[in-house]
Amino acid sequence: MSDTNNNTMKKYYLSILVVLSFIPGLGKSQNIDSLTIRNIYSEALTSNIAYEQLRYLCKNIGGRIAGSPQSLQAVEYGKKLFTEAGLENVRLQETMVRNWVRGPKENAYYMSEVFGSEFVNILALGTSVGTPKDGITARVVEVQNFDELKTLGEDNIKGKIVFFNRSGDHRYINPGSAYGSAADQRVYGAIEAAKYGAVGVIVRSLTLASDYHPHTGVMHYVDTIPRIPAAGISTKDADKISELLKADPELNFYFKMECSEYPDVKSYNVIGELTGTEFPEEIILVGGHLDSWDTGEGAHDDGAGVIQALESIRLIKSLGIKPRHTIRIVWFMDEEIAQRGARTYAKEVKEKNEKHIAAIESDAGGFSPDGFTGDASDEKFAKLKEWKEFFRPYGIYKIEKGWSGVDVSFLKDVCDAALMELITDSQRYFDFHHSPADVFETINRREMQLGSAALAGLIYLIDKYGL
Ligand SMILES: [Zn+2]
Repeated sequence: MSDTNNNTMKKYYLSILVVLSFIPGLGKSQNIDSLTIRNIYSEALTSNIAYEQLRYLCKNIGGRIAGSPQSLQAVEYGKKLFTEAGLENVRLQETMVRNWVRGPKENAYYMSEVFGSEFVNILALGTSVGTPKDGITARVVEVQNFDELKTLGEDNIKGKIVFFNRSGDHRYINPGSAYGSAADQRVYGAIEAAKYGAVGVIVRSLTLASDYHPHTGVMHYVDTIPRIPAAGISTKDADKISELLKADPELNFYFKMECSEYPDVKSYNVIGELTGTEFPEEIILVGGHLDSWDTGEGAHDDGAGVIQALESIRLIKSLGIKPRHTIRIVWFMDEEIAQRGARTYAKEVKEKNEKHIAAIESDAGGFSPDGFTGDASDEKFAKLKEWKEFFRPYGIYKIEKGWSGVDVSFLKDVCDAALMELITDSQRYFDFHHSPADVFETINRREMQLGSAALAGLIYLIDKYGL
């Protein structure tokens, strides 16, 4: 920023302060807080630092599923950034993670005596077993839910590929709820289908968008039921196969996947701190998850979140604020598959009996933030809600009880911190989520930085007034 700009900005802040001092009912400390939060936003919106860090994470490291070489590169990158940012006690917290490897690109096509044969772009679901070496060819049975599967029973399912084709419910306003309304097919579909002798499952991707991107995501097996391979297909392909099946119920599907799970490997959470000046033993945690799926670049999920967490600390430091409590950043490993990083972190908190006042996660994509949801006592929430006015000018209007981030939720049983998540306008989130479309180019710098500033603002208030 040039000097002229600087002077203009200073005059601008001064004029805000003057205006604020005439607002009835707004005390002096609130004036200072409003101005500080204004300054946090100004710094965030005029800086490219975080955006460029995210570019590096996405473009130079890329998709970083836990256990992969890329995930370890990301750990090293985190350690370097934390150190360069002047954080203290920078350390890697060891955690074992599952080691599922996708292998070469999957191959799939349908075959119909009526319609011929055409390639279908599939993605193995995370932790799926591979197919036999030559792939699987079988007839396809489409179902909408597990009840339908049960009604069809072994007679109709045995030896077939089950095609789960229920869309998320479009009527939900929150697309996360729509996602949740159909996620059982992806997570438990292989277990349910295998109960009736299916040889594989293909699952409609969990997005409300109509496009050609297959989405992955974790799925589960149980030891008592045979493990059958599971793949995601795009919503466009799902609609097409469904149409074809109506005209040709004899349609066959072929797919080949070479994914496999290997023994657990060592990985790390990346941790750094600004030590508190008055209460160094009391921690305000901010974080996100460093791992992503291997298919895109993990830009929204959750590259944006980890970078925002670091940026929130930079913003606080840039204003010369010396936090009273320790502000700790944690980049958690392995949120997507087994949350091993979060479990390891929570275990250590318990063992060390560390006191956390708040733990705030950013894992809702780098979109315009509109609030914080979380899990905290009524008393703590009453205090959090009092701060709503500070955020209203910036589009943050929801501070509500609700879901906290996946990683910080593991702290629930080990400390009485307020567990919070930054929430966003997520209408487009699931267009990218867990798919090859989750790339850096889909991130808007300003939207992402509004999130960084919101995190910094909340940390500033919690640090100043406690919870
Ligand atoms: Zn995520």
